[in-house]
Amino acid sequence: MSTAVQTQPNSQEGKGRIVALCGGVGGAKLAFGLSRVIGSDLTVVVNTGDDFEHLGLLVSPDLDTVLYTLGGIANKELGWGRADESWNFMEALRHLGGEAWFQLGDRDLALHVERTHQLRTGVSLTEFMAMAAERHGIASKILPMCDDPIRTMLATSEGMLPFQRYFVERRCAPEVNGIVFEGAGEARPSAQVTAALQSPDLRGIVICPSNPFLSIDPILATPGIRKLLEGARVPVVAVSPIIGGAAVKGPTVKIMAELNVPATSRAIAQHYGGLLHGLVIDEVDAADSAGIGGRVHAAPTLMKSDEDRERLAREVLGFVDLIAADLQTKARALG
Ligand code: GDP
Repeated sequence: MSTAVQTQPNSQEGKGRIVALCGGVGGAKLAFGLSRVIGSDLTVVVNTGDDFEHLGLLVSPDLDTVLYTLGGIANKELGWGRADESWNFMEALRHLGGEAWFQLGDRDLALHVERTHQLRTGVSLTEFMAMAAERHGIASKILPMCDDPIRTMLATSEGMLPFQRYFVERRCAPEVNGIVFEGAGEARPSAQVTAALQSPDLRGIVICPSNPFLSIDPILATPGIRKLLEGARVPVVAVSPIIGGAAVKGPTVKIMAELNVPATSRAIAQHYGGLLHGLVIDEVDAADSAGIGGRVHAAPTLMKSDEDRERLAREVLGFVDLIAADLQTKARALG
């Protein structure tokens, strides 16, 4: 078993639950910070729109990024996968002429084999991830957005592409002109996600700085989730993934340009429409805050170190509590 993440005892625990909506690398950084600050009071609801079947195995890239990041074993050099990885399986696969465009390290492979095996015996993805999180010593809950398949498909200049073909195999080169979440119509909501969002001791809902189109929209397209956010009596706060007109990493800005959306935090706020009570933007974009409706908090949002992640998590929690106090005052005034 790997080393448990030490959640430092602190005054932030016990103030109620936070649900964080999260994609992969960008979102997981803030989820890590939140998990350090509030430990078992955090539930991370993770995008599974990028999941696919490969070599007979179920691959869940964002769930695994969150699992490895919160477990303190993410591969920081590669930006994906596990630390301390070896590549014997890939070498042998290449030797056999197998499909080698999607990399699976040896240790990572064990997770994939075991998950696929357990799912075939009737265990749900939610149950499997709860077991895996416990094995990795993670106090926070990691929930897939849904146990039924919802798959992100991109309408591109090269035709319809499943997310991983676009992202990994084609390295985001094709132009995107539309995004579809296949299966969202038929999927059943997850009881665990619904319960988390309806928790009587919910403190707030945080939309992590993930790609709004590819990581957060699939979560919002999952039956029931958008409605629960719309009806939330607690603050819903997002952290912008855009810093100074650029994305820290990945195709967010390229896709925004292709969909004719300006690369600004204001556009992020507009994208989330009426869902948000507040948006955290980077301090370099502080001048933009006037054009954004609702409450705006400017802070350093670039998370390079674990300390940056924890500091931003504390800022976000402070912002959530500030808005909660506002909402209470308003509710009292309405009598
Ligand atoms: P993916 O599924 O692995 O692409 O990861 P996400 O969707 O969760 O994250 C991608 C987004 O995270 C990109 O738009 C980045 O700009 C954003 N991002 C990555 N690191 C940071 C960071 O340190 N701060 C902020 N504000 N955004 C970040």
